[in-house]
Amino acid sequence: MRGHDADVAVVGAGPVGLYAAALLASAGADVVVLERRRERTAHSRAIGIHPPALAALGRVGAAEDLVEAGVRIVEGEARCGGRRVARLSFDGVPGEHRFVLAVPQFRTEAILEQRALSAGADLRRDVEVRGLRQGPGHGGLAGGGLAGRGSGNPGSAGGAPGVELRTSDGLLRARFVLGADGARSTVRGASGIGARIRRYPDTYAMGDFADAAAEAAPGGARRAVLYLERGGIVESFPLPGGVRRWVVRTRSFVAHPTADWLAATVEARTGVALDPAGNSMLSSFGVRRRIADRFVSGRVALVGDAAHEVSPIGGQGMNLGWLDAALLAPSVLEALQDGGGAGLRRYGTVRRRAALAAARQAHLNMALGRPLAAPWLGLRNRAIGRAAAADPVHDAVARVFTMNA
Ligand SMILES: Cc1cc2nc3c(=O)[nH]c(=O)nc-3n(C[C@H](O)[C@H](O)[C@H](O)COP(=O)(O)OP(=O)(O)OC[C@H]3O[C@@H](n4cnc5c(N)ncnc54)[C@H](O)[C@@H]3O)c2cc1C
Repeated sequence: MRGHDADVAVVGAGPVGLYAAALLASAGADVVVLERRRERTAHSRAIGIHPPALAALGRVGAAEDLVEAGVRIVEGEARCGGRRVARLSFDGVPGEHRFVLAVPQFRTEAILEQRALSAGADLRRDVEVRGLRQGPGHGGLAGGGLAGRGSGNPGSAGGAPGVELRTSDGLLRARFVLGADGARSTVRGASGIGARIRRYPDTYAMGDFADAAAEAAPGGARRAVLYLERGGIVESFPLPGGVRRWVVRTRSFVAHPTADWLAATVEARTGVALDPAGNSMLSSFGVRRRIADRFVSGRVALVGDAAHEVSPIGGQGMNLGWLDAALLAPSVLEALQDGGGAGLRRYGTVRRRAALAAARQAHLNMALGRPLAAPWLGLRNRAIGRAAAADPVHDAVARVFTMNA
């Protein structure tokens, strides 16, 4: 394998790949991002950005733009049968950002794409990665220094170790590859990294609706609400533009939810009337947990959903991915500079542990929202209310919900 086209090839221009590309390019690496989609999807998908992730996003100058684009959720409330069971304030969580930020994923991706491009990353859309091959000696990371943009890739001479990607556009050689290509990662499979999958019985449907209450009660627009009802949990989150995301647990997978059906389900469980005409997004999802056996193999590292898929309930997946990239980027730069692999090994160990912890938390979040018969429902809700009223427990739960634990 001779010559390299880039220091780092990032496969996937989702939120995690774009952030990783921005970090690496702003540190001087020659970065190519390969994305199979021609255009970004306009679906709102992931919305919650937690304080530690927002601090990490600040490293590429994206935090301010995101805060401006989003809604600050400053508190959460648990309700049942029309009454408040518990209140959770994020006012005491550590750090600069004492709120969970809600931004539609397409907007987040647009901001991160702009950051990656202005740092000098080369984003190539409509290019699918189909396979990869690591050069001889890929297990070692013998150095060579950064090629750097416009330098003619001096670090690539003499067949230095690297990775050859087979793409829909031909072959591309990079000194390091980041697999940020999502839960069904081609990079993971082509690198021979296994992943254990656990399927959960939980299924959900969700939709974005115009939020009449946002105008009537501006404070309410900054509150997330969990309705812990007998028929199963309903979650409600404010979004920018006077919109609210509603998520309901369903008895089985609802392949084609309609706005009328979702509005009726929300009203039957919570008493809140939504206007189906104000619906702007509908979707359903089941839940899987899929964690890669290793996050690093030679000159390939996995980040984001490619490394770990966790339940969307609790909104941790994208945030975990950004925190992966924040730890991985300096280790990749170090490995490219001096061939040292210690940072990469540490990355694999630390972030796999974080993914397992997040998966356990997501497991608890889902268990909390399962339907319960009357006596158990009352007991559970009273226990939640008492726990939230005790300051130390309240503060600990607030830290867990903002990924500060
Ligand atoms: C309903 C729902 C709600 C969620 N809400 C939240 C939330 O509020 N907060 C949160 O933190 N997380 C949330 N998540 C999880 C979050 O969406 C994911 O964790 C996040 O999108 C992962 O980002 P990623 O960049 O790793 O992967 P992806 O977003 O999956 O991006 C991968 C990219 O790689 C591209 N790609 C794939 N294969 C190839 C290939 N072979 N060649 C080239 N390109 C390729 C894809 O086209 C895609 O653009 C939610 C998930 C769901 C389903």
